[in-house]
Amino acid sequence: MTTIAELREQVRGPVVEPSDDGYDEHRRVHNGIHDRRPALVVRATSTADAVATVNYAREAGLDLAVRGGGHSGPGFGTCDGGVVLDLSLINNVFVDRVKKTAHTGGGATWGDLNHAAHAYGLATTGGIISTTGVTGLTLGGGIGYLARGCGLSCDNLVSAEVVAADGRIHVANEHDNDELLWALRGGGGNFGVVTSLEFALHDVDTIYGGPMLYEVADAPAVMRAYDEYIQDAPEQLGAFFGWQLAPPLPFIPEDRHGDMFCAMVTCWSGRPEQGEQALKPFRDVAEVKAEFVGPMPYPALNAAFDGLFPKGLRQYWKADFVRDLPDEAIAAHVEHGSKAPTSSSGMHMYPINGAVHRVGTSETAFGHRDAKYAMVILAGYPDAADDEDNRQWVRGYYDAVHPYSGTEGGYINFMDTDDAARAPENFGPTYDRLRQVKATYDPDNLFHLNQNVPPAR
Ligand SMILES: Cc1cc2nc3c(=O)[nH]c(=O)nc-3n(C[C@H](O)[C@H](O)[C@H](O)COP(=O)(O)OP(=O)(O)OC[C@H]3O[C@@H](n4cnc5c(N)ncnc54)[C@H](O)[C@@H]3O)c2cc1C
Repeated sequence: MTTIAELREQVRGPVVEPSDDGYDEHRRVHNGIHDRRPALVVRATSTADAVATVNYAREAGLDLAVRGGGHSGPGFGTCDGGVVLDLSLINNVFVDRVKKTAHTGGGATWGDLNHAAHAYGLATTGGIISTTGVTGLTLGGGIGYLARGCGLSCDNLVSAEVVAADGRIHVANEHDNDELLWALRGGGGNFGVVTSLEFALHDVDTIYGGPMLYEVADAPAVMRAYDEYIQDAPEQLGAFFGWQLAPPLPFIPEDRHGDMFCAMVTCWSGRPEQGEQALKPFRDVAEVKAEFVGPMPYPALNAAFDGLFPKGLRQYWKADFVRDLPDEAIAAHVEHGSKAPTSSSGMHMYPINGAVHRVGTSETAFGHRDAKYAMVILAGYPDAADDEDNRQWVRGYYDAVHPYSGTEGGYINFMDTDDAARAPENFGPTYDRLRQVKATYDPDNLFHLNQNVPPAR
């Protein structure tokens, strides 16, 4: 099968070529920096479509970009001249309330999964934005509000269906293809097309939390108090520290719109009536100048910041895992973070202790279990003319704080195009084993548009 006409006969979903309506919409990904023009976009509706597309790309010798939610910073979900396999139409979610599991299609978003699971008062660890893809986020590890209590998203991955490079379909679980399951838990999109995933769910329904904004002058004290409290805080507490140029939202006084704040975004997933007490250390440290904190459905918090990250926003990222926050690091954060250029830019410090630390380093492919935080510095802005200024701000910030991180690696899902060479450090102690698994399922590196792990020879 080497012609597009033959491929069209093999798939049920739409095949979009440059001359077709909708090509411009379907070639684009979330990060507006990537203006690539694939030869075709296959909008798969089943595993069978994925098999046909993998076989076609391999036999035609074309690049293959696999897209779930399309949120990859380096734009791995699209390519120039190759084939895009877009799974977004396979976004079904089935919840088994007895087993407390969710079966999701390979193109589901966190909004899809949270919506379906919330009807049963259940959830699992996902990202902080509802439009991010479940699959891409989980394959890289998966960090979010629930991680301290429920582990990473990949720790909750029970099984997956994968189309490997030779077009064969594998089911990976603890009994079959267990080495593949190990690799999918943090090894990225290297091993094939994941067409469905099964997750363990937890009793998370109404949470207590939301954003709290403080004056920049209080940032050193807030960051120090955050670092000390999150060390041993109850594990139902998720909270990340960041910077926020105030957007025009009703909970922020109008005369402070456009001002810079430091922020804490909180999510207490224990009993809601205990939430106030759980957040008390964050109130005691300094005056909260604006907040939107209270009981809310977990999916509401998951979607609360979607508006700050619309599709098409130009983005540039740099990231590290962080072990400690010495005073010198906090001073560097305050100096650079307080100059974040837009409301969609900043630094987020996500805690990955608690339940994440109880999983052994070699148990999954996510190798940095000894870090306390996953830190990301992100610039998000609309105008191409500002590319260089925003890159410079991110790089200057990163260079100032990197010496204190205590690690050379960063979270693969927060890496941008120019950090591809960091892959061995980013995967860390699991890199060599990942190369062995890659050699089994993708010996010729068909799946190379990702945080790539070359196959062992
Ligand atoms: C606004 C925003 C917020 C974010 N917040 C968080 C967060 O809170 N926590 C966090 O951990 N990360 C977060 N991320 C990072 C996110 O985890 C990565 O960008 C991730 O790759 C997105 O997955 P996706 O499916 O949306 O992306 P895509 O661009 O579709 O895919 C990214 C990678 O995953 C692979 N992939 C995707 N789907 C499949 C599939 N079905 N089969 C095989 N491979 C697949 C692709 O090949 C590619 O390598 C965020 C990103 C953005 C842009």
